[in-house]
Amino acid sequence: MSPQQLPSAIRERLPAGVPTSLTGLIGLALLIGTPLGLAAHASDALLSLLAPIIFFGDLFIACLKLLIVPIIVTSLVVGVANVGDVSRLGKLGGRAAAYYMGTTAIAATLGLVLVNLIRPGDGASLEGYDIPAKAEAGRDMGVGDMLMKVFGNTLLHPIDSLREGDIITVITVTLLFGLGLILIGERVAPVVDGFKRLERIIMGVVHNIMWLAPIGVVGLLIEALGKSGLGLLLDLGKYCLTVLLALGIHGFIILPLIVLLIGKRKPLEWFRGIRPAMAVAFSTSSSAATLPVTIQSVEENLDVPTPVASFVLPLGATMNMDGTALYEAIAALFVAQALGFDLGMGQQLVVLITAMAASVGAAGIPSAGIVTMVMVFQSVGLPLEPLGAIYAVDRVLDMCRTVVNVMGDTAGAVVLTHLEDSAPATA
Ligand code: ASP
Repeated sequence: MSPQQLPSAIRERLPAGVPTSLTGLIGLALLIGTPLGLAAHASDALLSLLAPIIFFGDLFIACLKLLIVPIIVTSLVVGVANVGDVSRLGKLGGRAAAYYMGTTAIAATLGLVLVNLIRPGDGASLEGYDIPAKAEAGRDMGVGDMLMKVFGNTLLHPIDSLREGDIITVITVTLLFGLGLILIGERVAPVVDGFKRLERIIMGVVHNIMWLAPIGVVGLLIEALGKSGLGLLLDLGKYCLTVLLALGIHGFIILPLIVLLIGKRKPLEWFRGIRPAMAVAFSTSSSAATLPVTIQSVEENLDVPTPVASFVLPLGATMNMDGTALYEAIAALFVAQALGFDLGMGQQLVVLITAMAASVGAAGIPSAGIVTMVMVFQSVGLPLEPLGAIYAVDRVLDMCRTVVNVMGDTAGAVVLTHLEDSAPATA
């Protein structure tokens, strides 16, 4: 593992103590951006003064978004061609699905256990909030509609959804293309070769764009925290602490144990390797926008082979959201407790299942969880008005759960790499 370093000409001019690796600089950016964002929330003048830095944040996220589709297409074609065998690919897909379901179920169960133990809703007031406009989008959506929303466009309107950059459609079409290449075999080897070169070029672009990350992260944090501050985090403190505790246990105890016991990798090594992706996830609140960095981190820092990374991570960024699942389960139980609804075991099981489905249905973008949470509320007959309170404290919790979502994806890549018993990337 060799962290990206500043060129020596710049390194020599920096005062002692200033980090010289990209990861160190991103860490510094988190330390600077968080208090600066909170200070900007208190002062409009400071917020406008910092507008140029916010611009760099927007530029950084725009560059990442631009790379999502090219990176999925090139690395997936290379990945599929490297696997070179349809049944092996099916096995990888089956294992990925089992990992996603297993870890999401663990996360949602953890959320339910904690919310039952801590009971943050007892005595909490949820009055005076409006239903967020975003939640309206999820009204009347059942589990079937949700799955239709995720997969239906791919099946029914593939061209439109491809044009819109829908990740599931991009993955499906690219997979089919890759399978075609495998089936034709040697005759299309130059095409595969071309994709390999393209993939290297795009990873090179990601490498360079990452130098925008330190200033980009500061800008994104100022923008997010400057606008929302800590929200009403303190008003709903016990609820927020329950969510943060569950995210902490899942991200820093359960996932590392999975990495150690099933992935057979040292958790600290995993953690170090994915720090850039965690920082970008925290500052963008978007698993999808973080995807190029996630792929780069696991391939370059953890030697996850391209076939695994390119297959598991784009799917994971869209469908595997441990943080979102536990968040949705906790939010529903919190509201039920505050309203005095007594949800028994059977109904909590319904919450567990719908929270898992809702996490699959949530897009990898900021606050997507709020839209799909409507379905969880409706599954056990909770009114939608209290979603206003949940939304009021959503931003910071979204930053944290997105980190855990991305951590879950990278742990999956490590686990599947071990199970595949693949050699390090050669592509
Ligand atoms: N922002 C989360 C993500 O991109 C989704 C959510 O809102 O829970 O992973």
